[in-house]
Amino acid sequence: MNQSNIDALRTQAVPFRAHLIDGKLLPASDNGRMDVLSPIDGQLLTQVARGTAADMQAAIASARASFEDKRWAGQPPAARKKVLLKWADLIEANALELAVLGVRDNGTEIGMALKAEPGSAAGTIRYYAEALDKIYGEVAPTSSDILGLIHKEPVGVVGAIIPWNFPMMIGAWKLGPALAMGNSVVLKPAETASLSLMRMAELALEAGLPPGVLNAVTGEGAVVGETMGLSMDVDVLVFTGSGATGRRLMEYSARSNMKRVYLELGGKSPNIIFADAPDLSEAAKVAAAGIFRNAGQVCVAGSRLLIETCIHDEFVAEVTRVAEGMRVGDPLSLETAIGAVNSESQLKQNLGFVVTARAEGGEVVTGGERILQETGGYFMSPTIVTGVTPGSTLAQKEVFGPVLGVTPFASDDEAVLIANSTVYGLAGAVWTSSLARAHRMIRDVRTGVMHVNTYGGADNTVPLGGVGQSGNGHDKSMHAIEKYINLKTAWIKL
Ligand code: ADP
Repeated sequence: MNQSNIDALRTQAVPFRAHLIDGKLLPASDNGRMDVLSPIDGQLLTQVARGTAADMQAAIASARASFEDKRWAGQPPAARKKVLLKWADLIEANALELAVLGVRDNGTEIGMALKAEPGSAAGTIRYYAEALDKIYGEVAPTSSDILGLIHKEPVGVVGAIIPWNFPMMIGAWKLGPALAMGNSVVLKPAETASLSLMRMAELALEAGLPPGVLNAVTGEGAVVGETMGLSMDVDVLVFTGSGATGRRLMEYSARSNMKRVYLELGGKSPNIIFADAPDLSEAAKVAAAGIFRNAGQVCVAGSRLLIETCIHDEFVAEVTRVAEGMRVGDPLSLETAIGAVNSESQLKQNLGFVVTARAEGGEVVTGGERILQETGGYFMSPTIVTGVTPGSTLAQKEVFGPVLGVTPFASDDEAVLIANSTVYGLAGAVWTSSLARAHRMIRDVRTGVMHVNTYGGADNTVPLGGVGQSGNGHDKSMHAIEKYINLKTAWIKL
């Protein structure tokens, strides 16, 4: 992959993107369209269908019909596997086009997008394709006059609501296991990042997925997302996004058919640096990457840096040096370390957090500003705020932007206390040379993922999910399968 391949695609016209319903590309029922602005320059990139409630209902009806007639669930596992493997191949074959399209839509730096988006999506689809014929039912240890069988059945229609930070990667986390287990799916990409995921969905049909098994509807969360949430015909809702929307989805479920709701929400993940870290300069580099890549728009971002008091000043100076050396700008340049903030409203929100942090006594040691405004794009300098007290806004609320809050601690107990002082529990890290301390921190920090002497970078083999208000259920690994099956008991008298 070189820069000239990317540049060749950078200004390519992007056609209007329609819904994908029952295997057909369809405009909105009222022909409504939404403008898609590129965060790179704030200019119109293309338009997508502005879905109506009727569009979403048609997509759900199509998914339901495809599930009931077993056109997918009824196929032999080997046949389903073949289609999904072909889909993964097609995603890989189109990786550059998908990545560039996604970056023009959402602003992620291309170096990261290539790996994290089509690369990871193809890997995830392949992982579940390969798994699907290795999942067995069970025979229960009943008394000898009974045969107790436990079947694993698809749940039916899965609704998947996807955010804008990594649409293809997160989309694949839901679509891979959902489709592998024989479900039919309705997909709802985010308003500000639907293009690459819609194209990826279309490739599934090219790979041989029967029409109606995967439907995708673009539009506003409050319209098409709500219709999906309130549907009596969606059996499971899987979601990654904000806590506010997650809460709504649970309400929709309670108000309709009590569909199962799995939420992967935000975080305020602590990155805990002890003076006995094996390599403090490596720790500083990784800490900066762990919050600033993709402009901080990463649910597991290490947004709270907890530093042992005796190395606080030295470590802050080192992270600041690393942050100031990270190149912010054109997301389509391979040299860029930090791309664009996804939207103007997100940028304003990020800057608002900096104002509040200052007002609450924090000191902005670097960044804190919108930059490169002349490009028309939404760029923000990597921002470090010291003196962030555990109860303050920056320590408690997820920014979802390139803003790192720093808090000192004096002992292991204090580090744990601060680490566990938010409503979240998604990720975290500890940097230490002590095996015992590392294991104590793994045990005591309330979180779904804990890193030791690194930050980020897991693969499909391990689950990702939060505790507390970071959500429930897991993406990735064989544990994700549980969300997409029903257990059925057969109790047979012999
Ligand atoms: P953000 O505020 O960062 O955009 P959201 O949680 O609002 O995060 O967005 C994540 C996804 O949730 C998007 O696909 C969005 O369209 C969808 N969404 C937003 N509001 C609703 C809603 N009321 N019902 C269902 N989905 C929604």
